[in-house]
Amino acid sequence: MMRKGSCLCGAVRFEAEGSVRPVVFCHCTQCRKQSGHFYATTSVADAHLSVDGRENVTWFAASATARRGFCNRCGSALFWKGNGRDVTSILAGAFDEPAELVAACHIFTADKGGYYEIEDHLRQYPHEWDGATD
Ligand SMILES: [Zn+2]
Ligand SMILES: [Zn+2]
Repeated sequence: MMRKGSCLCGAVRFEAEGSVRPVVFCHCTQCRKQSGHFYATTSVADAHLSVDGRENVTWFAASATARRGFCNRCGSALFWKGNGRDVTSILAGAFDEPAELVAACHIFTADKGGYYEIEDHLRQYPHEWDGATD
């Protein structure tokens, strides 16, 4: 299927074609600080992702291994990309509904904020999970 999405202001629009990874919730400090809570991302092969308004995406390298793309007009967090990888993670909430995304698991729960509990049935990984980088 073709899934569409955008940032809040619409300056960045994207389409993801075909199957996408189940949604991983990342509770690491970087995701928490950038988003104000935690990340929820699916991912897709770059060959299956098209982005309109790329000039409105600013990439911030929060670490030596990855960067985060956000709309430089409205501030919406949109993308996460590991350096040198040919897949792009996309913030699940940026998709237009119905996006038909399914939840997978929680990662970096050891770093989560102290102001909430994770109370769903999904698996929790204290640190990274190999499948999360696919
Ligand atoms: Zn925007
Ligand atoms: Zn994270």
